[in-house]
Amino acid sequence: MRQQPAITLDDVNRAMTARRWNLTFPEPVETHFTAEMDERRARAMRRILPRTLLIYNAFLVGDYLLTPDAMAVSLIVHFAMVTPWIIAAIVMLPRMTSRFWRDLLVASLPLSIIVGVLAVFSASRSPLAEHYQYFVIVALLYGNAVLRPSITLALIISAVTVVAHGVALALHPVIPPVVAVSASACLVVASYVSLSTNAAMERDLRRLYLRRLSESLVASDLEQAAADLHRITLVDPLTGLANRRGIDARAAAFTGGADGGPFAVLMIDVDRFKPFNDHYGHPEGDKCLAAVARAIRDSVRGGVDVAGRYGGEEFLVLLPGATLAEAVPAAERIRRAVEALALPHAAAETGMVTVSIGLAAADGLSADMFSPLVAAADAALYVAKQAGRNRVHAAGDVPSTDTAGRRSRPASDAA
Ligand code: GH3
Ligand code: MG
Ligand code: MG
Repeated sequence: MRQQPAITLDDVNRAMTARRWNLTFPEPVETHFTAEMDERRARAMRRILPRTLLIYNAFLVGDYLLTPDAMAVSLIVHFAMVTPWIIAAIVMLPRMTSRFWRDLLVASLPLSIIVGVLAVFSASRSPLAEHYQYFVIVALLYGNAVLRPSITLALIISAVTVVAHGVALALHPVIPPVVAVSASACLVVASYVSLSTNAAMERDLRRLYLRRLSESLVASDLEQAAADLHRITLVDPLTGLANRRGIDARAAAFTGGADGGPFAVLMIDVDRFKPFNDHYGHPEGDKCLAAVARAIRDSVRGGVDVAGRYGGEEFLVLLPGATLAEAVPAAERIRRAVEALALPHAAAETGMVTVSIGLAAADGLSADMFSPLVAAADAALYVAKQAGRNRVHAAGDVPSTDTAGRRSRPASDAA
């Protein structure tokens, strides 16, 4: 519900500066507000109406004490009119889809109570009946300030109540005129107080809602800006992989939480890429780099390994937890994945785009180890290039893996 319709900070600012914002907001804020309020109102009604039922019927004691001669009317009003109507509202409100009819139904509840009170009052000739008619004030306060219909409906309820109450008092044979006038005056004041309470609550609700909406939009804008900044500074736009800064940040995170485990680094370089660019053009070169990047990303363990673009047509892969021997198959997987792309490369010995990979590993990664590790991988890459490209070479005293790489390559690749 909260997501629709989409609202921007501009919409909220417009609503804040709009005239009469305390009654309606400009769209789409008003729709958003009423949708949220509908939910709140439905919850409030589920709470209020059952209580209304209890409190209203507790007033039967008042009927019994103040207007005992009209007890039959009281019972009819309570049990044949108002109670069934409140129960009907409890049952029907959650099922009603039209806000208009829902509001009207809610507004009819205090009116039905008031009509009931006036009916009992009119039927009674008890000398205490003049105290009974004050129940109307309670019912009106309940309607305007507790059920809180829209200010328009509250005005209508109040006007109807004041008139009906005045007529009932005027027609009543045993109420002294002074009591009638003072009771009417009390009711008018009660109307005014409850209407201004209703309006003040609506205004506060709307002001709070705007402030909360604005805060949450500012927060999500900030979050978005932070995410954008993160992406711009740490992600390579062409390939979507981490850029040099991103790789360094991830490497620093690994050294920060060093658990002393092994750590391997792969330096990957596209073979004969300058001639590729020269032959196919720079835009094609870019597409080729993006495809190679995808092949690399799809060949490493997601969420564990880090693949990044080190610069130009060079990529770096961090393999935390991998020994040199374990990194060799990973490198070989990448080499084969690029080969499997079968991107034509007219100026290469193999006729297609390939990569050479140098790899190095350390027993554990400390902050000052990362640079030498990358340098060792770079040196191993140089050896792989010298040995004929499209192959993997491991630095250090682990046996060279050229042979492993070559074994898994088709004979035609062995340049
Ligand atoms: P080797 O097999 O020894 O690696 O040969 P090479 O031609 O790949 O090596 P060299 O370093 O001479 O060429 C790298 C080329 O990569 C040169 C440059 O034009 C190209 N390059 C670097 N960055 C980009 C890029 O973002 N887009 C494109 N299309 N080309 C790039
Ligand atoms: Mg290069
Ligand atoms: Mg190259």
